[in-house]
Amino acid sequence: MPTTRDYYEILGVPSNASENDIKRAYRRLAMKYHPDRNPGDPEAEAKFKECAESYEVLCDPERRTIYDRYGHSGLRSTPGHDFSSMNAQDIFSMFEEIFGGIGTGGRGRRRGGVPRGYDLETEVEVTLDEVLAGTSRDVEFKRLDICKTCSGEGAKPGTKPQACPTCAGSGQVVQAGFGGMFRMVTTCRQCQGRGTFIAEKCPDCHGSGRVSIKRKLRVKIPPGIHARQAVRVAGEGEPPLAEISPSGRGIRGDLQVVVRVRQHQQFERDGDHLLVAVPIAFTQAALGAQVDIPSLDGPASLSVPPGTQHGALFRLPQRGLPNLRSPKRGDLVVVVQLVVPRKLSDGQKNLLREYAKTEKLDVGAGSPSMWTKIKDAVAGT
Ligand SMILES: [Zn+2]
Ligand SMILES: [Zn+2]
Repeated sequence: MPTTRDYYEILGVPSNASENDIKRAYRRLAMKYHPDRNPGDPEAEAKFKECAESYEVLCDPERRTIYDRYGHSGLRSTPGHDFSSMNAQDIFSMFEEIFGGIGTGGRGRRRGGVPRGYDLETEVEVTLDEVLAGTSRDVEFKRLDICKTCSGEGAKPGTKPQACPTCAGSGQVVQAGFGGMFRMVTTCRQCQGRGTFIAEKCPDCHGSGRVSIKRKLRVKIPPGIHARQAVRVAGEGEPPLAEISPSGRGIRGDLQVVVRVRQHQQFERDGDHLLVAVPIAFTQAALGAQVDIPSLDGPASLSVPPGTQHGALFRLPQRGLPNLRSPKRGDLVVVVQLVVPRKLSDGQKNLLREYAKTEKLDVGAGSPSMWTKIKDAVAGT
């Protein structure tokens, strides 16, 4: 039965997510819930299948449009696969091109003759202060690794894998169809293409040649990193699959450490620029003043000229965030917030009434709206 939950919610993406975001989310969840990594956990398997179903719909522009407009019921006219009744390995193979397409070794595929293992993904959260200075994080993750007891061969120590009797060690079987009219070469089902048969299985990996291990690493996060960017740690992914390379000969996948950046209470990030709202009093704005402003690297001072308006922008060059790929730094853009006093003493009221008698409202003419100004400032014009 197809799921009744919201596809976007299942993949944890917003409803306007790009195809790449959807791919990425699916890949991460498929790795997380893959039954190989969660043996005997029916909940993980159900989640794995839900993710596959969601991905199948959302990666197809036509079906996604139907889903956005009419929900699950709209899709009845264009049914997809019934993942709930499918085998997890088959689901994984179905989508292997998307895994292969973003830097992971495809299942059973050899690139230039060298087998490559899967990439793994993990997440870390950093603060804006850490984006400024760069930081490091200890990450802990699980991966399938070569079983040390049997060196990945799957056979009980002291025994050796033998040639598979079904395919005679080739890993492939030839089937004749229609009375010998054509021949079809398929992967041997008995040995899953390994070509070997294990009479006595290794007690630690039960013959699979791979065990789940926990790994801990310190990862350096460079200054200027952006949200959802990944730091790649080469060679910390999985070894090639046991079916292709039991001993793990070949290239290991990588670990992709995806960075989340925590929202700062004061500063708003825009690329390498930072925005900050600074409250000033009416008198400071009217008469001009030297105002203290916060910046990520300590307090700074800003000279506000007489006649400064609410929403006025000031730019402090090079006080934003470092650029990931150059020595340049972004700017700090200060948005002035004029604060009107909430409480006045009688004395203050009298002063203001006196002032009011002389006041003329000057709204200025033809000035662009606040948002146009903010956008221009952010764009650096
Ligand atoms: Zn083993
Ligand atoms: Zn075989």
